[in-house]
Amino acid sequence: MIEIFDPWKQIRTECFGNVEPTVQLQAVTTHAVITGQRMTKGITPDSTEMIPAISAGISYGKENNTLSFLELKRLNKKLVKLNHLTPLESIQFNFFVSGISKACGAQLSRHRIGQGHVSLSRRYTKQKPEFVYPMMSYLSDEKIVRGVYHDMSKCLGSSFQYYYLGLLESGVKKADARYLIPVATATARHWWVNARALRDFFRLRLHLNAEAEIRRLAAMIYNMVVIITPSLFEDLERNEHEYDNQVA
Ligand SMILES: Cc1cc2nc3c(=O)[nH]c(=O)nc-3n(C[C@H](O)[C@H](O)[C@H](O)COP(=O)(O)OP(=O)(O)OC[C@H]3O[C@@H](n4cnc5c(N)ncnc54)[C@H](O)[C@@H]3O)c2cc1C
Repeated sequence: MIEIFDPWKQIRTECFGNVEPTVQLQAVTTHAVITGQRMTKGITPDSTEMIPAISAGISYGKENNTLSFLELKRLNKKLVKLNHLTPLESIQFNFFVSGISKACGAQLSRHRIGQGHVSLSRRYTKQKPEFVYPMMSYLSDEKIVRGVYHDMSKCLGSSFQYYYLGLLESGVKKADARYLIPVATATARHWWVNARALRDFFRLRLHLNAEAEIRRLAAMIYNMVVIITPSLFEDLERNEHEYDNQVA
């Protein structure tokens, strides 16, 4: 598991409209077993993790049922080690991500290959007073942190007031009023991504130099998927401190 240092979380609860990120895993590819006319879905917790190794097994002439679960896990690890990553594309995770800032959403949208996104539109929905405050874990003086959060709260509170009372109530369309929405505004999206693309996302966004909010999100997602398919991801945790060498 990857832990994110977040010393000021309690203080953020006092900020105007503070929200924290949440990630729900809504769907994941599972191995289907068809008996007669009936399909049993998601038969065992292991059924997802087996899929890449079963696909890869054909290269060695191995039938689906000739390898034990431990052998399949070992084969997964070998695929990862050798960088033979195509079989990992056979698993897709579908997440619902909320409580991230528009800034973080924009960063997430830059990831394009092996994935798709649909996000909340402020053209069609009104902004709620919900904002994401930065963790600022590099600051050590609580008094300074409280002061910064206080000032941010004030600015975000007045931006919301202008947006909501100043514009929407004057009849300005949501599509135009949203020009006043700050990047701290909380947003949500559905995001589906295959296991290969997710590894690449982790390589870039779990890196110690990644921006703090998206790194926190990456850690939350990592901690979820490493439980479901450990053999596809656990090497990344061991290498966490080596990421510095991998990103330009
Ligand atoms: C620490 C950090 C700082 C960043 N700073 C900035 C910044 O200042 N400004 C900014 O604009 N962006 C910035 N980015 C975003 C970055 O440039 C990428 O857009 C983002 O990380 C998505 O990565 P990707 O292109 O590898 O992902 P994907 O789009 O998912 O692509 C995955 C992989 O597919 C391959 N691929 C994708 N498209 C092509 C193609 N057309 N041709 C050939 N191969 C392709 C590549 O191997 C690529 O790595 C930053 C990212 C990080 C992690």
